[in-house]
Amino acid sequence: MTSDCYNDTILLMLEKLKKFYYTKVLGKKYYRAGACKGCGRCCHQIYVKHSNGVIQEEKDFEKLKHQHRFYTYLKVVGKDEIGLIFECQNLDKETHLCKIHKTRPGICRRYPQEEIFAMGGALSKDCGYKLVPIESFEEVFEKVQKKGTKKTLWDKMFNRDK
Ligand code: SF4
Ligand code: SF4
Repeated sequence: MTSDCYNDTILLMLEKLKKFYYTKVLGKKYYRAGACKGCGRCCHQIYVKHSNGVIQEEKDFEKLKHQHRFYTYLKVVGKDEIGLIFECQNLDKETHLCKIHKTRPGICRRYPQEEIFAMGGALSKDCGYKLVPIESFEEVFEKVQKKGTKKTLWDKMFNRDK
């Protein structure tokens, strides 16, 4: 085996381990790629989701304020077909920067997470991040095909072709 082949094999193994860790251990479907451009857009069009769905009424939001400090930073700026729209009061409107950047809550540090898609949301058009599928379309297709051709115990017992 040449050293190039050896390096390729190691890289392939590391990639497989990474995939395994993300999909099986963390239960993720996407990698977060890119970097924040500091545009501040994600801090002034925020929907809040709780157990009953996206917050629609201010009275429901009031109850949440005691649950996490993040909610105390938000104020309602509008409403659309998804729900109430909030803006974070820590966003400096001139610089588009977070005024509490060093002590910002974990939810802001981890943004964007793939749960956004589960809520029916999307990243802003110019966001510097991308959520990249961990498994390519071809890999998912191949798995589905394999599953579809798997023989059941019944098929194996009676030697049936599926
Ligand atoms: S705390 Fe900072 S990072 Fe988090 S939403 Fe508010 S302005 Fe944005
Ligand atoms: S929208 Fe994206 S690029 Fe802009 S501040 Fe938020 S995370 Fe950063």
